[in-house]
Formats: sequence, C-alpha cells, structure tokens
Amino acid sequence: MSQHLLSIRDLDADTLKRLVADGQAFAKQGPTHRQDLLQGQTIAMLFYEPSTRTRCSFELAARRLGADVLNLDMQSSSSRKGETVADTVATLAAMGVRLFVMRHEERAAIDAAARALPDGCHLLNAGAGTRDHPTQILLDLLTLAREGHDIQRLDLSIIGDLRHSRVVNSWLQAIEHLGCHRLRLGAPGVFRPETVPPEATLSDTLADSIQGAQVIMALRIQQERLTKGTTGENELFHEHWGLNEARIAEWAPQAQIMHPGPMNRGVEIDSALADGPRSLILKQVENGVPARMAALAWLFSGDKQR
Ligand code: ASP
Repeated sequence: MSQHLLSIRDLDADTLKRLVADGQAFAKQGPTHRQDLLQGQTIAMLFYEPSTRTRCSFELAARRLGADVLNLDMQSSSSRKGETVADTVATLAAMGVRLFVMRHEERAAIDAAARALPDGCHLLNAGAGTRDHPTQILLDLLTLAREGHDIQRLDLSIIGDLRHSRVVNSWLQAIEHLGCHRLRLGAPGVFRPETVPPEATLSDTLADSIQGAQVIMALRIQQERLTKGTTGENELFHEHWGLNEARIAEWAPQAQIMHPGPMNRGVEIDSALADGPRSLILKQVENGVPARMAALAWLFSGDKQR
C-alpha cells in the first residue's frame, strides 16, 4: 500500500509534529539550497480548480528536492474530452509519474484518483472543495512554530467564511490531534459553520470572537462557493466583521494576523492590516515551500521500507 496525504486525519499527532520539525529544518536551509532527496522522481501537478500560491509552492518544493515536475494544464487536458480522473492518473503513472499533487472541487474525485493509482505511487490532496487542504495547515503550523507559538498554549481565533472553507475544516482536524489552549470561531449568517466541534466555540460578534486573541486567522469569503441569490453579504461582512487595525488595537492589541490567501482586501481584511507589522501573511507564503518539501519527502520516505 502506498502512502497518500488526503486529509489531516491521515496524520497522527506525532507525524504532524515531525512534519513541522522537518519543515523547520528545510526552512533553515533557505531558498537557494538544493538537494537530491527526490532525484529521479517525477511529480505531476493536477489542478482542476484555480491556484497560484499552492501550485507554485509545490512546484518550488519539488524542484528544491531534486524532483522533475510535470505541470498539466487541466483546461486543455483530456479531462475536457471526458476522461475520468482515474484514467488520467493511471495514464501518467504508466509514464513513470510517482507522485500526484491534485486539487479538485470534489473530494470524491481525489479519492477515486488515489484508488486508481498502482502501488508505489502517492497522491497529495492540494485542496478538495470545501473539505480539506492538509498542507495549508502544515504551513500554518510551521509559521506559528517559527514565530515561537506553542499551539497547546495558543489563544487562536478563526474568522470569516467558515461554512465554505476547507482551511477551517483541516484546522479543526489538526486541533483534534494537537489540542489548542483556546479556539474561537466567528462568523455571521450564511458564513457560520454547520457544526462546531467540542474543541472550539462559535461566537456571534467580532468582539467576542477575538477579544484577547494572540493569533487571528482571517478566512476568505468564498465567492465562488456562495449560492446564487446571496447578495450584499460582502458589504455586511465588512461592516460588522471586517478586520482592521482599529478593531484589533481595541480588542486584541497583541494579536498577529494570518490569512491563507488569496485575500479579498476591503472585505474580510483591510490592506493596512494585511500589509502591516502584525501580519504573518507573507511568512505563511514563504513557509509554504518548506512545509510542502516536508510533505513530499515524507510521502516517499516509506517507499524503501515497503
Ligand atoms: N488558498 C486557500 C485554499 O485553497 C484559501 C482560499 O482559497 O480561500 O483553500
């Protein structure tokens, strides 16, 4: 059986910690360092949904580990002729591709691809609809660790479109494993999550959601996933929930700010805050590469023993 990374649930607490530690070691080496850990391996990027930072950081991570990268343009691939994802990955595996980094709006398509792969091939979920985005959590954990935060002592607030965010789902799975001193979720109306796990509380106002928080993570309003007929939500969100320097200074003066990007500036977060000294947003982007190096290396690491 080959190792895949389809969800944070595929990792136990020790493996999560190990991946963060490996990410730290890769980060220390810096962006110009190259190694041959994955030399001879070919990694294919299959993004059926748009991506900038995730796709680029996987590509850089793969290259820094010495792998060859095959970038497929899914807009012009055979999927447009009706080929199933299972046939696409099996075809590429026959050409010698050993790892597939895949993003798709349906988690079921990612599962089908994993089932279609022959032994010795790995699949990494780079974002599945509203369900999972495991490597976003690895890079967030790496960012927090590099800032000196211990998740078990952290007062963390996650604000924004929690209903449609795969990032918050994966975060909640990570917190099941790792624990968190205090986790508050905050969102109004159509953005509220369907369920709230016992590890978190859901607040009704921005003030209650962030008062005293050490780290506040803003999540994007997922325009593309909102049901048609939902109008005026951005303006309302911005008015009552939008993060800006004045609100943070009043309610959480020590807080650092995270956002997985891409940002809707002027909706969930104001530019002065996103670009200001509290912001960890570009550090998250920077840490995306070493965190993904750790994930890619880990997927191959078991091959020799099998
Ligand atoms: N880039 C993240 C994702 O792919 C966050 C977002 O799109 O809002 O889920």
